[in-house]
Amino acid sequence: MSLFDKFQPIIEIRAELEKAGVMPFGAVTEKILSPTEAIVNGHKVILAGTNNYLGLTFDPECIAAAKQAVEEQGTGTTGSRMANGTFAEHVKLEQELAAFFDRKHSIVFSTGYAATMGMGSTLAGPGDVILMDADSHASIYDGVRLGGADMVRFRHNDTADLEKRLRRLGERAANTLIIVEGIYSMMGDQAPLKEIAAIKREYGGMLMVDEAHSLGMLGAHGRGVAEAAGVEDDVDFVVGTFSKSLGATGGYCVSNHPELEAVRFAIRSYIFTASPSPSVIASTRVALRLMQERPQLRERLWENAHRLHAGLKRLGLQVSPQVSPVVAVTIKNRDQAIAWWNELLQRGAYVNLVMPPASPTRDSLLRCSVSAAHSIEQVDRIVEAFAALQTSAAVG
Ligand code: PMP
Repeated sequence: MSLFDKFQPIIEIRAELEKAGVMPFGAVTEKILSPTEAIVNGHKVILAGTNNYLGLTFDPECIAAAKQAVEEQGTGTTGSRMANGTFAEHVKLEQELAAFFDRKHSIVFSTGYAATMGMGSTLAGPGDVILMDADSHASIYDGVRLGGADMVRFRHNDTADLEKRLRRLGERAANTLIIVEGIYSMMGDQAPLKEIAAIKREYGGMLMVDEAHSLGMLGAHGRGVAEAAGVEDDVDFVVGTFSKSLGATGGYCVSNHPELEAVRFAIRSYIFTASPSPSVIASTRVALRLMQERPQLRERLWENAHRLHAGLKRLGLQVSPQVSPVVAVTIKNRDQAIAWWNELLQRGAYVNLVMPPASPTRDSLLRCSVSAAHSIEQVDRIVEAFAALQTSAAVG
């Protein structure tokens, strides 16, 4: 027996991929050319699997703010928010996030993972319950494990199952934290938040929504699925990330509960890690402003989402049921998914290969996503790459 025995399945998959001459996980971007183009594994590709939904990573205003922050404040804070790592700009960003979400309290974290995992693990501990969607992101699962709450899962987006489980909890519903996502990252489908909020109102407990993939996309102000569903008052905590629509790294939690300020002093993923670098905070602050000033970005994003979804559907592929900026193509056969991922790369479209257990089902996914920065022509080229692939598969 060795510590390494448990890695055997990973070692075997890696060997299989290497034999096939493909290494989809951690492919190296040799040169990034723009928000939508890069050189990957020697191929010039359209980036068709990023989370750069609003395409702000190369925005001149974001870049200028980041550069200025580096020059004026240095490359890093070299400390925790609790020690020397709270600069005036971290506090300003917290205030701006609170204002944007129309909430009283806000915490900025170093990553979205730290925000979601930290809030889950800190709010609910031994004796409490976390009632979560079964398809939740790893950061939500990790939070439950670390905090020691009892984990109860309900079937993905199944409100009848949620209600049944909450009812069964009886008095324990009062110290239950329900966690769902806004838009789910793998299939791009949305949580039925209106119904979930009504169930929470009836049975009690608190509700936390991870809007990582829905910030800037949905709702009159772009606050996400809760705003679009008109149930923000029922959502106790919104968590999310700066690493997608805001084009940087970092995370947040906003809430109207004054207790969030006490929770801040207990979150280990906030206390025992360095705070975000000044350049990250600076570009995020500008991106948050631009997201509000430029509703046209959101319109472009949705145009592209509809175009990609329709294009892939027309090819007869099994695409996600709900139209969203994340469009996943389900492939039952893992070897075919790997081969197609590789061929797509060679044909100039770099999508995400997702295999179980990262995919929500036993199938593999070619997860595509669009950005407001994709031109219509680029979206069409992604569809053409899939079309060519089907033709060659039919011929082969
Ligand atoms: N929550 C969800 C739903 C996510 O998809 C992700 C990132 N994939 C995270 C949290 C973590 O965010 P970050 O990458 O900023 O750590």
